[in-house]
Amino acid sequence: MEITKNKVLVLAPHTDDGELGCGGTIAKFREEGKDVYYAAFSSAKESLPHGMPDNTLELEVREATNRLGIPEDHLIIKPYTVRKLNYERQNVLEDMVQMKKDLRPDLVFMPSPNDLHQDHYTVAMECMRAFKEVSILAYELPWNNINFNTQAFVKLDKKHIDKKVHALEAYESQMKRSYLNKEFIFSWARTRGVQIKTTYAETFEVIRWII
Ligand SMILES: [Zn+2]
Repeated sequence: MEITKNKVLVLAPHTDDGELGCGGTIAKFREEGKDVYYAAFSSAKESLPHGMPDNTLELEVREATNRLGIPEDHLIIKPYTVRKLNYERQNVLEDMVQMKKDLRPDLVFMPSPNDLHQDHYTVAMECMRAFKEVSILAYELPWNNINFNTQAFVKLDKKHIDKKVHALEAYESQMKRSYLNKEFIFSWARTRGVQIKTTYAETFEVIRWII
């Protein structure tokens, strides 16, 4: 059964979270002609390796989302400071309320409420507040999850994982991070695929599903 949600908003606390959590699904949805928006709340310039220009992650997220087929005018980058999103919780909420009015998504992706990263948790909490009448799926980031309920799956083909890897390779400034490893990305997608007797998949927690 194809899902009937056609306007999708991916909420990423930092550039790269959306590609990691649901990059294969974004690639598949774009192939199916769904309208996909991507909002990053921080381009984490404070976490860049020493000496790199401040806009490095901004340029990288532009390239990465482009590789997944997201049009340039569907990318929103907010200027919050990394690790301090909770200090601006109300502003984050108001940004999301504005996105809801402007974009009218019928499906929103967010980090898991079980995510340990303070910025991820803030985005998850404010998303549930802002999008009360919208279907929400929460994506998995295993290195930040102690528990994750694998309730929903999107079946994917190898070409979708190839696109996910290609998108993540745009993050040249982050390549030392173990979760950006190609073998890991494929193994993770295989693990989720095996759970539902298919080859590759991404899994999600169901926060709210409106039929
Ligand atoms: Zn993050």
